[in-house]
Amino acid sequence: MKKPNTNCRRCEEPFTEGNPRTRRKDWCICVKCYNLYQLNWKKDNPDYRALWNARAKVVIPQYKEKYKTIVFNAYGNACSCCGETIREFLTIEHKNGRGGEHRRKRNFLGVLIDIIRAGFPPEYCLLCMNCNWVERKGKVCPHKLAKLQIVGPVEGKVA
Ligand SMILES: [Zn+2]
Ligand SMILES: [Zn+2]
Ligand SMILES: [Zn+2]
Repeated sequence: MKKPNTNCRRCEEPFTEGNPRTRRKDWCICVKCYNLYQLNWKKDNPDYRALWNARAKVVIPQYKEKYKTIVFNAYGNACSCCGETIREFLTIEHKNGRGGEHRRKRNFLGVLIDIIRAGFPPEYCLLCMNCNWVERKGKVCPHKLAKLQIVGPVEGKVA
């Protein structure tokens, strides 16, 4: 058993309410030491913002792709309505139509992470742009109507 860390590893003072352990889980140092460390680090790395942004530009799309693949695989890599499998056409949809709300609170990457953490809940599905667009207007997708009526594809334009 590891004993709980009650003292800062840097200044060796015990953590107190006024000077608690930093919220960074992997760091066992007090807030004061952490702030000092950050201050020094920023001094040593005056262009840290540019560095960070440059890194984010590369890393975030990589994560997005990676997590998108995981989520798409879990939901069958196809539109749950018409079976479209072209990845570029597919979007993640919250079945209660709350995807937009969720996305406003958490960005796309956040939504992906939430879905993975939640173990791919059935409230989500993949829809292609076409089916997504129709359902967003509050209509039943013509694909579904076609299936219900067992008459094959609906003819004519979808207004
Ligand atoms: Zn400390
Ligand atoms: Zn579709
Ligand atoms: Zn459809």
